[in-house]
Amino acid sequence: MKTKKIKNSSIKSKREKASIKIQEVYDFLCQFAPPQLAESWDNIGLQVGNLDDEVNTILVSLDVTEEVLWEAVDHEAQVIITHHPLFFKPIQCLDDSQVSTRLARLASNMDITILSFHTNLDATQNGLNDLLAEQLKLKNCTPLLASQNSQKSKTGLGRVGQLSKKVTLQNLLENISSQLKIKNIRFAGSLFHEVKKVAVMTGSGAGFFNEALTAGADVLVTGDLKYHQALDAISQSISIIDIGHFAGEIGMVSLVTEKLKAWAKKQNHALQIFGTQVQSDPIQYWNSQASLPENFLEKFKVA
Ligand SMILES: [Zn+2]
Repeated sequence: MKTKKIKNSSIKSKREKASIKIQEVYDFLCQFAPPQLAESWDNIGLQVGNLDDEVNTILVSLDVTEEVLWEAVDHEAQVIITHHPLFFKPIQCLDDSQVSTRLARLASNMDITILSFHTNLDATQNGLNDLLAEQLKLKNCTPLLASQNSQKSKTGLGRVGQLSKKVTLQNLLENISSQLKIKNIRFAGSLFHEVKKVAVMTGSGAGFFNEALTAGADVLVTGDLKYHQALDAISQSISIIDIGHFAGEIGMVSLVTEKLKAWAKKQNHALQIFGTQVQSDPIQYWNSQASLPENFLEKFKVA
């Protein structure tokens, strides 16, 4: 862990200037992404902190990491809003050797409250799946897995929609690459496969290719594709495009930041809202075509 010191005085001084309760921010986000839309295994909402505390600065991030916590301190933010919850399983002790509890203790020492909006944000209307469908220019979208806990027909995990015309998988990959600014995309299927109906699922949705198939989709765009899922999908003539978990969900930062800014302006709240600038995809790709330092191979030459 870094030895950076927490400046309690600066956190306290900011707190004195704070204007609204964290509860108000939480309630607003719950209207946008109702908690009942969350999956039963999920752990959304308050992760660390106190909804009764006051806030004037918020940082939005996909995850809590140590870098993100220090970024919040730099902004003098009292709240971090994340997509992924810090905890999924019940905690029995605050053990610093465990990442989530260590981060929770650090957040607590920094006087930072952490709120998570996860599968409820994925499922809600105009939430993360709708954003991905929009980025792919899909029309007439319906949920891939309609929510059982909502009267609204447009809520649920994943979306299925139509491209404006039939394209090859290669064309779709090119479009996704330019729309989402992704250099490396994994896929299962043929580049010549003609696709028009597209299913999307933010996060790890490759296991839902059967549902995508049932919905009539030619291709499923998601993250975290596994080998056997790829084999099974190909055998059933549906392609899968793996854009990566991070690339599929990082849109959450601008989505929530913009929502909060618009709300704060409308309500006349003097809130400052920042999107993280320090979080990047933890998964990287090494490319054998990338230039190696001169004499790199010489060093490893077997005599
Ligand atoms: Zn995720």
